[in-house]
Amino acid sequence: MSYSPDTIHPIHMVDLQKQYQQIKDELNQRLNGVLESGAFIQGPEVKSFEAALGQYLDNTHVIGCANGTDALQIALMSLDLEPGDEVIVPSFTFVASVEVIALLRLKPIVIDVDSRTYLMRIEDVEAALSPRTRAIIPVHLFGQCVDMSKLMPIARARELQVIEDNAQSIGAKCLTPDGEYRMAGTLGEIGCTSFYPSKNLGCYGDGGAVFAKDEALTQRVRMVANHGMQRRYYHDMVGVNSRLDSMQAAVLNTKLPHLDEWNAKRQQAARWYDERLENHESIITPLRVGWSDHVYHQYTIRVRDDRRDELQQYLGAQKIPSMIYYPVPMHEQLAFTEVVRRRVSLAQTERISKEVLSLPMHPDLTETQIDYICHHIRQFFNQ
Ligand SMILES: *Cc1c(COP(=O)(O)O)cnc(C)c1O
Repeated sequence: MSYSPDTIHPIHMVDLQKQYQQIKDELNQRLNGVLESGAFIQGPEVKSFEAALGQYLDNTHVIGCANGTDALQIALMSLDLEPGDEVIVPSFTFVASVEVIALLRLKPIVIDVDSRTYLMRIEDVEAALSPRTRAIIPVHLFGQCVDMSKLMPIARARELQVIEDNAQSIGAKCLTPDGEYRMAGTLGEIGCTSFYPSKNLGCYGDGGAVFAKDEALTQRVRMVANHGMQRRYYHDMVGVNSRLDSMQAAVLNTKLPHLDEWNAKRQQAARWYDERLENHESIITPLRVGWSDHVYHQYTIRVRDDRRDELQQYLGAQKIPSMIYYPVPMHEQLAFTEVVRRRVSLAQTERISKEVLSLPMHPDLTETQIDYICHHIRQFFNQ
């Protein structure tokens, strides 16, 4: 097969420049508006974004903050937790989900993930419970949700708080215990997301948000994020300073109306990958679960026979980028080996961290580019 280079290259993991071209006119106008108004902190862009995202997320409360890691920290600080309380979290995740637990002197109890979905398993949650368990952080990794229809009843029965790490699955719908579908991040007590530029809904800098249904909890989250104050210069609790700024909110206001369309394009790109890679003996394609949409923050395959790094190098030589999310599980990280506790086997996590490879994924990938990528993946195994 021959490919004409100018219809293929460049291939990016994420293509923010192309996306900017699509929204440029409206965005520039909004950014100019912020500059003219002088309202850089809070202000109308932040208020309208919080309202718009809240409406999009099945009418939940949205509190903007400085980044997704802060969102998780603020969420934990807003709940009634004490040092030593146990929080169940998967070991196969981005560091933030475990880091904030450790930072607040809570105890991370790390559990395994399923090797086909990369999501925490409900059996493991049950096996990891103890009398000191107070909270669970399901991480909706790579674009699809943990099985909340099974997790929530377990949490409810024991009065455990559920904090959804929804940094990678914004816009996905997830099955509730009532048999309905709700927006990811709104099924637990509290949800968190990140607007890091490469996320499905990203700004042009750092940003994040906390979602809460309960009015009183929403007030607490706002207080924690704003120096523990409700009335200016009266500090009722120890908080942090974590804000979404107006420039970032302007970017997000411009992008939010496109989110569903962009997620649909990611799903199309994933279908193109699936068609070409399914049933390949050396590759395991990501499994779609029945209880959640997949919004493909990442399209992550597993490579058998210890050949992952070799394949990555080979693809690199064809100017095909790829990334390893995540090469080292949290229980093997120097920062956390002494901090985390494990009560279940982490065998799948340990195995897949050596096998996973994330392929280019963004709304503007063409079928020709995906064909080229998959052609070279097959070529690698045929040589
Ligand atoms: C990106 C991400 C975060 C943290 O977001 P930042 O905005 O980078 O702080 C947390 N959890 C997961 C799963 C993420 O992917």
